[in-house]
Amino acid sequence: MERYDVIIIGAGPAGLSAALYSARSKLSTLYIEKLSTGGQAATTDEIENYPGFAHGISGPELTAQMEEQAKRFGAKKLLAEVKGIELAGADRIVKTTKGNFVAKVVIIASGAAPKLLGCPGEQEFRSRGVSYCATCDAAFYEGANVMVVGGGDSAVEEACYLTKFADKVTLVHRRDTLRATKVLQERAFANEKLEILWNTVVEEIIGTDVVEKVRLKNVVTGEVFEREIDGIFIYVGLKPNTEFVKGLVNLDEQGYIITDENMRTNIPGIYAAGDVRQKLLRQVVTAAADGAIAAYHAEKYLEECTE
Ligand SMILES: Cc1cc2nc3c(=O)[nH]c(=O)nc-3n(C[C@H](O)[C@H](O)[C@H](O)COP(=O)(O)OP(=O)(O)OC[C@H]3O[C@@H](n4cnc5c(N)ncnc54)[C@H](O)[C@@H]3O)c2cc1C
Repeated sequence: MERYDVIIIGAGPAGLSAALYSARSKLSTLYIEKLSTGGQAATTDEIENYPGFAHGISGPELTAQMEEQAKRFGAKKLLAEVKGIELAGADRIVKTTKGNFVAKVVIIASGAAPKLLGCPGEQEFRSRGVSYCATCDAAFYEGANVMVVGGGDSAVEEACYLTKFADKVTLVHRRDTLRATKVLQERAFANEKLEILWNTVVEEIIGTDVVEKVRLKNVVTGEVFEREIDGIFIYVGLKPNTEFVKGLVNLDEQGYIITDENMRTNIPGIYAAGDVRQKLLRQVVTAAADGAIAAYHAEKYLEECTE
């Protein structure tokens, strides 16, 4: 079994920052990613609030830089899915689709994934008009009529982004006010291509080969109506990627990992960083900070183990 000082699960901002700090402290470091570099941050076209980029930077570009920086100090990458972590004395065995790896420290930075809307048609038309990533799919909707579901930062930000491609974007929100930050709300209200349907939920996504229309319901009046659309982007919240550590580390009722302020979980040698842990602000800057803190304390922990 290949042995490392530190194994990091996930290559989003938290994992990459942990990899940078760990490798730069001269700890042998492996980070494991099941999809592609950058996590959720790589699914957004513009990040305007990460300090140091006065005019914003695209998510893929920012996270590619993070990865290059971690690799420059010797962090190694493995493309595989982590299926579980086993405890063997002071060793933590990380079980992946490409075999088992061992370390004294594991940093879980597996982030979160989009929540499903749960309505009929959502699964059926996934990638055939139903999307969770505007950066990935917006270009397919040049001149089209698209819908975005949600009222938080991601929904509003991505709805504005989609107006660069689509002729019309309709934002559907189940309440009568948005949760998004004020600056994003102002941008949305000022955008002539963007219409907001308040107090409205999606009941069904309908089509033959691809999405053709949606059935909507106004939750105040009870009115049910249909709208023809070419595509629908769903941003209705997140669920943590913690299936593989259920029963091992303590989770809150929503499935987020509970840590202390040093990113320690209830299991010695296992840390959690970024969106996967219970916290209030889930952003690139806080994910990167968590990763740095976790790696710093991992180093202290390893020193204690060898004393
Ligand atoms: C559309 C959108 C727009 C956003 N815009 C902004 C913005 O403008 N500014 C900002 O600060 N934040 C923004 N965010 C939030 C930001 O992207 C996240 O807070 C940040 O990416 C969290 O980083 P993370 O590393 O904790 O987790 P993630 O980015 O979720 O990365 C986790 C990684 O772990 C991998 N993984 C999961 N499970 C496993 C497993 N079992 N094995 C191996 N790998 C695994 C995943 O594939 C993923 O790559 C946005 C998010 C979205 C969705």
